[in-house]
Amino acid sequence: MKTNVTERVATLHRKSFIIDAHFDLPLDVAMRRERGERRVIETSYIEDFRAGGVDLVVGAIFIHDYFLPEMGLRRALDQITYIHEELEESPGLMRLCRTMGEAQAAREAGEVALILSLEGADPLQNDLGLLRIFYELGVRALGLVWSRRNFAADGAFFKEVREGRKGGLTPYGVKLVERAEQLGMVIDLSHINDEGFADVMEIAGNPVVASHSNCRRLADTKRNLTDRQIEMLAENGGVMGMNSVNMFVAPDKENAAVADLLDHVDHVVGICGIDHVGIGFDICNGFSDFLQLDKALPAFDIVSSHRHLPAFTSGLMERGYSHEAITAILGGNFHRVYQQVMG
Ligand SMILES: [Zn+2]
Repeated sequence: MKTNVTERVATLHRKSFIIDAHFDLPLDVAMRRERGERRVIETSYIEDFRAGGVDLVVGAIFIHDYFLPEMGLRRALDQITYIHEELEESPGLMRLCRTMGEAQAAREAGEVALILSLEGADPLQNDLGLLRIFYELGVRALGLVWSRRNFAADGAFFKEVREGRKGGLTPYGVKLVERAEQLGMVIDLSHINDEGFADVMEIAGNPVVASHSNCRRLADTKRNLTDRQIEMLAENGGVMGMNSVNMFVAPDKENAAVADLLDHVDHVVGICGIDHVGIGFDICNGFSDFLQLDKALPAFDIVSSHRHLPAFTSGLMERGYSHEAITAILGGNFHRVYQQVMG
């Protein structure tokens, strides 16, 4: 990157409140701490966040299939515990935030803000009361479902699987959405199936997000949103986060590059303007599943760490996006929705 571009990107990053709306940090922290590592955030992540100018990370609590159903709650609580231990061991680097006011204060103190989310309501099973507990523990975003079925909804699979007919939200799922909105939690629709997406759009009173989903028109997987869904999300006032995992970016997965990811930004902007697109890179290159029970999907991150965010930003500049537009994409849009819902 040419020096003047590097400087312009750095200046823009400093001015912007940069938000990555989806990063499975609590999961990776848990897996590593259970192998004896300590200060994982300090040693593996904080420098990348800083180099990329990231101000707020939404850290998703993710539960592997092999823990469900019985160990789902336990694994979620473990991940929250580990996060607290990490923040205590490495003071002054990252701060658990419950509101955007707290996130702003963290930034002003030179710390990276962390907001917790659940990637799938599986830890609750069918107990609505537990949502309150997670709220009290600081969880402020609720992904209703991961790519599997739970008590609330059906997930969108990464590829076709043999299954029976799917449904939308269950009666419990409807209550969960209503309760989450009452509490001030952001509903996240990444991973939900099309039927569930439509159901949430009908009942949501607040803007919702699809924290890490791209455009199905450009990469045909059920994990991505159709043009109509993007319109619906915009009508709702919501935001979708661009996902950097190659299989969600381009049909030619092996050669997917930043330009392909930028095509998704262009596509969303073409449908509904600049106000409904952000980043939720879903970076997982660095993660290792120590149990290795899942056959890992042949995936890689196009933006391979937060450190490489400048490649994305400079790409937006090259495509003629104004500084104001880039600031909105890098976090301004998610900031608006989070502020509105969480306070
Ligand atoms: Zn995900």
